[in-house]
Amino acid sequence: MAEYMQRLIEDAESALLHTYNRYQIVLDRGEGVYLYDIEGKKYLDFAAGIAVFALGYGNRIYNDALKAQIDKLTHTSNYYYNVPAIEAAKRLKAASGMDRVFFTNSGAEAVEGAIKAARKYAWLKDGKADHEIIAMNHSFHGRTMGALSVTGNPKYREPFEPGIGNIRFADYNDFDSVAALVNEKTCAVILETVQGEGGIYPATEDFLKKIRALCDEKDILLILDEIQCGMGRTGYLFAWQKYGVKPDIMTAAKAIGCGVPVGAFLMNEKVGQHSLAAGDHGTTYGGNPLACTAVATVLELFEKECIPAHVREVGAYLEKRLDELAAGHACVRERRGAGLLQGLELDRPVGPVILAALEKGLILINAGTNVIRFVPPLIVTQENVDEMIGILETCLEG
Ligand SMILES: *Cc1c(COP(=O)(O)O)cnc(C)c1O
Repeated sequence: MAEYMQRLIEDAESALLHTYNRYQIVLDRGEGVYLYDIEGKKYLDFAAGIAVFALGYGNRIYNDALKAQIDKLTHTSNYYYNVPAIEAAKRLKAASGMDRVFFTNSGAEAVEGAIKAARKYAWLKDGKADHEIIAMNHSFHGRTMGALSVTGNPKYREPFEPGIGNIRFADYNDFDSVAALVNEKTCAVILETVQGEGGIYPATEDFLKKIRALCDEKDILLILDEIQCGMGRTGYLFAWQKYGVKPDIMTAAKAIGCGVPVGAFLMNEKVGQHSLAAGDHGTTYGGNPLACTAVATVLELFEKECIPAHVREVGAYLEKRLDELAAGHACVRERRGAGLLQGLELDRPVGPVILAALEKGLILINAGTNVIRFVPPLIVTQENVDEMIGILETCLEG
């Protein structure tokens, strides 16, 4: 490695808190589906900053919209209205069919808001403060205390206990395990429509439909976390749209801003009218004009460029190529996923494969120890998929 890059990495490690074991490259710029490090080495990017850069790097319309907004106004606080937030909220409503939007600065914050809305809804009904939320094993909802408390990974959670309390964990895609935890205190069920960090597990239609029916019967709120699987990644703007199951509350982030930090939680009118009211929740930055320009522009471009339809087409091709790869390599246990959210489970840790790929100019990430995760920019082409498979194949052989 060149001396300059090595020196930068040493500087980073002496200044930043060591909460990540980072790959040993310093990224500099991006173009389409390619990234370049500061030495000019080119990488095909199948990680997209963890499912963030849906439109790829350097989209002219997106960049120009942000630059223009920077020159106008980037922040107002929520004491006043601003046009980009109005535009972004209208577009999100139209895209999701949900009724009310609250903008946050991150995914974890969107989950926090969803939890507060669910607790307040239940509190308004019976005045009690002991409501329970059912979450899933192997789930991931973020690192803040509330989001962490509903994250079904003891390794992330245990050092920071006690969490917010009254959380029960069921098994994903096992309806009976959910039903067994329901009681008169249950106020919400929270799950990812496709589990991301936990290893790329899509919900079965049967599971989601039964949970929806159970929630309807008992007036329990269904919270779907669409932070990773939403925004077109599965071939539908939101993954639940494929199942015909609609949540009461939904979270979004990651690709919603395509690189500008922003998230949102949305709810139907029933929850909107009977949960968070003036003074109940807030944020200084959330919904600022810069972040909302990103959201509004991303949604506009998704529509104009028919991104979900493109994802269905390229996603099917990625599935086919990964299935072929799996058939030819004994170390591959299974391919799972939907659209451009795919996972390849190996019979061994995937760390060495990802490092070998990086060396050869391909950026991949894992989802747990044994799963390679494929979350490229949604604009990838079949040729990009072929290029990725070509490199990955040589890394699996080694
Ligand atoms: C990434 C992620 C989060 C957390 O989002 P942050 O922006 O990192 O706080 C929550 N839920 C899911 C499903 C995620 O993939």
